[in-house]
Amino acid sequence: MSKANEYHAWFESLSNPSERYELDQIIYSDREGGLLQVAHDMSALGETSGAEWRQIFQDRGRRNQWPYGSGVWGKKEWVLPGIEDENIVSMYEGHTNLFWAERYGRELGIDDLWLKLCGNSHTGSFKDLGMTVLVSQVKQMISDGANIPAVACASTGDTSAALSAYAAAAGIPAVVFLPRGKISMAQLIQPVANGAIVFALDTDFDGCMEIVKQVSEEDGVYLANSMNSLRIEGQKTVAIEILQQFDWETPDWLVIPGGNLGNVSALAKGLDMMLDLGLIDRKPRICVGQAEAANPLYLAYQNDFEVFEPIAARSTVASAIQIGNPVSYAKAVDALRRYDGVVEQASEGEILEACAAADRTGLFNCPHTGVALVALAKLRSRGLVKKSDRVVVLSTAHGLKFTDFKLDYHQMKLEHWTSENPNPPIELPAKYSDVRDAMVREIGVRFGGS
Ligand SMILES: *Cc1c(COP(=O)(O)O)cnc(C)c1O
Repeated sequence: MSKANEYHAWFESLSNPSERYELDQIIYSDREGGLLQVAHDMSALGETSGAEWRQIFQDRGRRNQWPYGSGVWGKKEWVLPGIEDENIVSMYEGHTNLFWAERYGRELGIDDLWLKLCGNSHTGSFKDLGMTVLVSQVKQMISDGANIPAVACASTGDTSAALSAYAAAAGIPAVVFLPRGKISMAQLIQPVANGAIVFALDTDFDGCMEIVKQVSEEDGVYLANSMNSLRIEGQKTVAIEILQQFDWETPDWLVIPGGNLGNVSALAKGLDMMLDLGLIDRKPRICVGQAEAANPLYLAYQNDFEVFEPIAARSTVASAIQIGNPVSYAKAVDALRRYDGVVEQASEGEILEACAAADRTGLFNCPHTGVALVALAKLRSRGLVKKSDRVVVLSTAHGLKFTDFKLDYHQMKLEHWTSENPNPPIELPAKYSDVRDAMVREIGVRFGGS
């Protein structure tokens, strides 16, 4: 059924498209040290009409014909057309729920607010979308005889969880470098449990990145960080999925938290391909939210991206985006320019309160999603986002991976913030009259009874 072999993809230099490499070459940057991207033979893809592609994606989704049921591999021709199906390492990722956040939208003054829960995935974050592609390519290379002793990444938590799971499923050794004490317990236990070789280093993410680059250069370990543009190919499918879920009607805004900036680049790349190949004909606008403690993109946006200065990222509750020198900066700027983009930032207090407020409407947000919610509230109050706009917030991880900060918030144990709406459990003796009084009082307080 697949015509995958008629299609071709390769690495090419972002700044010099004539510099090309095959996808089975072990290479992460171009001759000048700049970023590579995966490019596709668009004219071959263009022989199938936009309407036909939409139908193909529609027919494959969530079905059981290997490997097309996955949200990523249902778009195989657009992702990694050359890979053998038996080398694909998939956990049925993608097809995450996109739902109308009616009550929280009302609080923000937005009638048509949607959340795309990318964290409802095998390892609890969108990182699965990219990692299935990278680990599959590695499995392909190993089965073709390449000598790859292990796959490695530096991580603020979610990348290492995804790498560890997919590598374990493939039977390939994984090595992960984490900043000691800077990730959540849930994030640490995932690579530990999946049998990865886990290093907790006394540095930050950027410091871990330096080490992983070194072991990949010196020791032939395959680099799984997002400077490896294979991951972007998987992550871009989230854009396609969102459009699919809206019956190919383009929303007005996509709001996404950004750290290393691979994900926003991927989002734009998915949109680019759908526009080029005629699946959609209208562009959404994109907003990237950054934590104020780690805001190099926001600062560059203030001067129209004329100058970029890496910063030393400060500690933030949004630990997965505590990155001062984003690898995919150039791709993100390009994406923002093409999608009439905006960058906003969120202070620690704003993040905590936005998460808590949204959780009270039935959501259960990771702090990075909180950053996006703060950004959105700011765009709304500036009038950039209108009441009737259709807005999609990309929720990047499952809230259950980040319960520590919620616990601290509700127990009033945060170091630098006094929680505005804590909801600690009410501790009482098991006596009916006491319980009843407290219950009636609380219902009144919370639901506006007098
Ligand atoms: C990785 C990650 C991000 C940031 O994505 P980038 O591609 O680094 O910008 C945001 N949220 C979560 C939960 C993540 O794991």
